[in-house]
Amino acid sequence: MTEFGLIDFAARLFADVDRHGWEAIGDDCTVLDIGGGEVVALTTDMLVEGVHFLRGATPARELGRKALAVNLSDVAAMGLRPVATLLSVALPYGAEQEWAREFIEGYSELSHREGVALVGGDTTSSKEGIAVNVVAIGRGAAAHVKRRSAACAGDAVFVAGELGGSALGLDDILAGRYDTPYAALHRNPEAQTAEGAWLGGRSEVHAMMDLSDGLASDLVHILRASSCGAVIDVENIPAAGGNVRAAVCGGEDYKLLLTASAEGAEELQRDFHETFGRELYRVGRIVASEPRIQWRERGVDIDPDWHGFVHF
Ligand code: ADP
Ligand code: MG
Repeated sequence: MTEFGLIDFAARLFADVDRHGWEAIGDDCTVLDIGGGEVVALTTDMLVEGVHFLRGATPARELGRKALAVNLSDVAAMGLRPVATLLSVALPYGAEQEWAREFIEGYSELSHREGVALVGGDTTSSKEGIAVNVVAIGRGAAAHVKRRSAACAGDAVFVAGELGGSALGLDDILAGRYDTPYAALHRNPEAQTAEGAWLGGRSEVHAMMDLSDGLASDLVHILRASSCGAVIDVENIPAAGGNVRAAVCGGEDYKLLLTASAEGAEELQRDFHETFGRELYRVGRIVASEPRIQWRERGVDIDPDWHGFVHF
């Protein structure tokens, strides 16, 4: 069974259980309307030693920040603000106290910067390897929630930053080059929390998610949820180092991917630039077709072998 086959299987098994107001499996967070025009959102993500990080190559403090950042990114992807987290860690016997202390310090550093409280968790041992699980809680206006299912034919497609840098950094790390700028980017991903909350407040933004597995696979989640297709202009993708394959197939960039009404697109880009001093990149458009990506290079359809990252 593939990663997404297993998720679908779980979703089907639970189809008949009352969700008590929580949204079903499938978006970056599940959302609960709490009345008064407000919602809370929940998401969780796990980091496993040897899969998501190598202990020798990643300082504990950086890993603490990363464990939090990847979860904050999923809250930002809903157009909401993260407010609190729960943190669970499994440490093998012999994992130095020092490692755990530095990990929590890194986690706390970023929590302080983002104004996010730690309100619970679990601490346990493992036979082998470190595992870290974070639950992040977001809160905000119900009207600001951006779901993967809201893309419409005619929408412009945007990404909120350069793509592929993290994948290039992972290549560097695996080749033993730990100190390159891309390696630093891979180890210190930044969640676009301010951008996410700001985009949540823009009514011309329709669908949004964060890019954790690469544009080639993540955009398809929006297309499937919204029952539409996309045409992506490859030359407009902001590819780190000019490497389009890394930009499209590489994981862990944690930049926001969104669609917005074509009429509002230019104003959105202008206001985004004014607010953040950075570009919102327009990379294509949503079309009425089956849920697939048509890649296009300078107006000519191409059929490259591009896939995003899948765990199994
Ligand atoms: P993301 O990359 O945004 O964290 P994922 O691709 O990991 O999202 O997951 C896709 C959807 O499936 C999300 O809604 C997530 O909550 C859900 N999901 C993933 N794994 C499980 C699981 N084991 N059980 C239930 N839901 C899951
Ligand atoms: Mg996500």
